[in-house]
Amino acid sequence: MASLDGLPPLREVIEQHGLNAKKSLGQNFLLDLNLTSKIARSAGDLTQTAVLEVGPGPGGLTRALLLNGAKKVIAIERDERCRPALEEIAAHYPGRLEVIFGDALKTDIGALAAGLPIRIVANLPYNVGTELLIRWLTLPEWPPYYESMTLMFQREVAQRIVAAPGSDAYGRLGVLAGWRTNAKIAFDVPPQAFTPPPKVTSSIVHLVPRDAPLPADVKVLGRVTEAAFGQRRKMLRQSLKSIGGERLLAATGIDGTRRAETLSVAEFVALTNAV
Ligand code: SAM
Repeated sequence: MASLDGLPPLREVIEQHGLNAKKSLGQNFLLDLNLTSKIARSAGDLTQTAVLEVGPGPGGLTRALLLNGAKKVIAIERDERCRPALEEIAAHYPGRLEVIFGDALKTDIGALAAGLPIRIVANLPYNVGTELLIRWLTLPEWPPYYESMTLMFQREVAQRIVAAPGSDAYGRLGVLAGWRTNAKIAFDVPPQAFTPPPKVTSSIVHLVPRDAPLPADVKVLGRVTEAAFGQRRKMLRQSLKSIGGERLLAATGIDGTRRAETLSVAEFVALTNAV
């Protein structure tokens, strides 16, 4: 039986092309087109934008993006075995899917976007996803080339991305994401939704860049948050010592007996600009 989009069901595609999931590539596939459509919809209106999808695999999310009207999808996949399955999708949606085979970590993703309004959507292995997210959050040019990012993470990581000051999950990732974007968890995805199922629950995070984040040097902000959260249980006057904490705290009027997790993003920016 054909799927919602007239292409063969993903289970058949995987079987036909021998796409048994490889642990080394962090492959946990989503086979339910209703679920991948829900992810596509949480990326917003795609009819006027190109979508940059990282790690399409056998194409479950890719198909949902196209089915939900994405004007164009540019996908980067590392696993060559996925080529025939992705070519079938490209043939079904002429001119709307471009697939690049390579490592997303070694690809100039911004250059692929050239000239088009872009939304980034990805279900990636956890470590690759976090590394790319940090790169996308720390781009030197701002506003960035993308209009939004809709990304799958382990729920625990998603909670760190959207964490507010004062919560246990608040740390370097929360400061970075809160500084440059509005980030929220769209919904959770249970392990059983994946083939094979991972050990933990995942969450879809949607991030929209702020037009004008408070000005700060991103490298220095990184050093300040690293020092502050590196010893998160210690008072700032202790944890910031290595970067001249006493002077920074005096210059910003921030109480040195406070701990990193109590500081707002604006306070981290103030410390950064005092360095
Ligand atoms: N998007 C598909 C889905 O939702 O069913 C596949 C998700 S699977 C968790 C992650 C995908 O990312 C796999 O297809 C894997 O081969 C690919 N991948 C892993 N590391 C990558 C990298 N560095 N660059 C590009 N793709 C990568």
